Parts: sequence; structure tokens; C-alpha cells
Amino acid sequence: MRKPIIAGNWKLNKVPHEAVLLVNELKRDLIDVEYADIVVCPPFTALADVADTLTETNIAVGAQNLFWEDSGAFTGEISAPMLKDLGVVYVIIGHSERRQYFNETNETVNKRLRAALKHGLKPIVCVGENLAQRESNKTFDIIKDHCEGSLKGLSAEEMKGVVVAYEPVWAIGTGKTATPDQAQEVHVFIRGLLEKMFNKETAQSVRIQYGGSVTPDNITALMAQPDIDGALVGGASLKSVSFVAIVKGTKK
Ligand code: PEP
Repeated sequence: MRKPIIAGNWKLNKVPHEAVLLVNELKRDLIDVEYADIVVCPPFTALADVADTLTETNIAVGAQNLFWEDSGAFTGEISAPMLKDLGVVYVIIGHSERRQYFNETNETVNKRLRAALKHGLKPIVCVGENLAQRESNKTFDIIKDHCEGSLKGLSAEEMKGVVVAYEPVWAIGTGKTATPDQAQEVHVFIRGLLEKMFNKETAQSVRIQYGGSVTPDNITALMAQPDIDGALVGGASLKSVSFVAIVKGTKK
């Protein structure tokens, strides 16, 4: 039985005082939730204040990226030990916006992933096809390429600590959600790939989130699918009322 995991990706939004206001509301409304893991991923500048506000609560803090080296002459980068020191637990790696705008590749995703695992951070690795790829029937080829390239060289034990987020790029921030059947079909494909790359037990234990215009209105139908284990939520994670409703919508 895989425990659902809902993560809010705040992207480039919220200065620290706005972030603290939001997580105080989440704390108030989600304090009793045990049926799902809850994660918020603020921008780097708000991580310290958010982590302090959430100390000893059931809401974990995630970062939106990390660099693979621990320290050194890498101007502008943030490393796994720096995140750990702030109380960060999760880290999103390979989000499509990073692949699209910041030259992220499977190779750099893999380096970040190894750094996260080495330091005990829990990675959320994003994979997903764009609209042109879906329309030319390349969805499964792209997912295979993203999974094999990004997860290369991990042991089965390491893989068990990774969350995979299936995020069709055409559904991110567009209001177009994949239908529950479309998402389930890709989640099953990912689980099959994980079985080939690792083993059956690992494939069955890895949580696969869906991401792409998740709202309080569509979360229940998505979660009704057997291979959808939660959601990576962008826009709807920026307001407590919608994020709280999404978390509550995962209760089976
Ligand atoms: C995301 O960016 O990970 C995402 C899923 O965004 P949205 O929910 O806004 O589509």
C-alpha cells in the first residue's frame, strides 16, 4: 500500500513573509492529516523561514532544485548539504520548466539525483512529454528516455526512496489536465519500466505522482486510479484553500 504524497511547487512565487502566512494556514487546516505525506516547495529564499515554521509538524519542506557539488566555485548554486542544514527534506529534480528554460538534461538530472540521495534528501524526479511529442505518438518513447536517463545507475534500494512525478508538459499551468485514464496509462508504463530497470518489489513500492493542472475538482478522480499515488501541484498550491482541498481529496 503506497501512501499518497501531495507536493506543492510554488515556483517563482512568495517572499518569506507571504510564505510563512501560507504555511501557517496549512498547519492550521492539515495538522491532523495522516493519510497523505504533505510537502511544500517554496523558492530558496523562503526555505529557512518555512522550515522553521513547520518544525515538528506533518508538513515537510522541499526545494525546487539543487546543484550536484557540495561546495566550491559555483556561483549562484545551492548544494544538498546547504538544503539539509535548513531542514529541507525533499527536492524536486528535472522539472519540465528547468528542462525547457535552463538546459536541464537527463544527465544533469541524474547528477542532481545522486547528490540528493548521497545526502539523504528525498528526490521528486519529473518526467513528461510535450504536446508535439504526444501528438506524434512519442509519449512512451519520451517517458522511457527520461526514466532511463534520469534514474541511470541507481540501486533498487536507492530507487525506493525516489518519488517520480509524471507531468505532461501540455497540462502544466494550462488548465488542461490529462484525463485519469491518460494519466493511469502512463503511470502503468512507468511502473513497468521501473520493474525492468530494478525489480518488481521496487516498482510496486515507488510512488508516482501526477502533475498538470491538478485542482480540488479533479483530484478525486485522479486518485481513484490504482497507479496514481498523489500529485505535484503548481498553481493550486499557492492558496491554502485549494491546496488543503487537494490534500483532503486524496483520502481514500
Ligand atoms: C507543476 O509545475 O509542477 C505543475 C503541475 O503546475 P500546475 O499545477 O500549475 O499545472
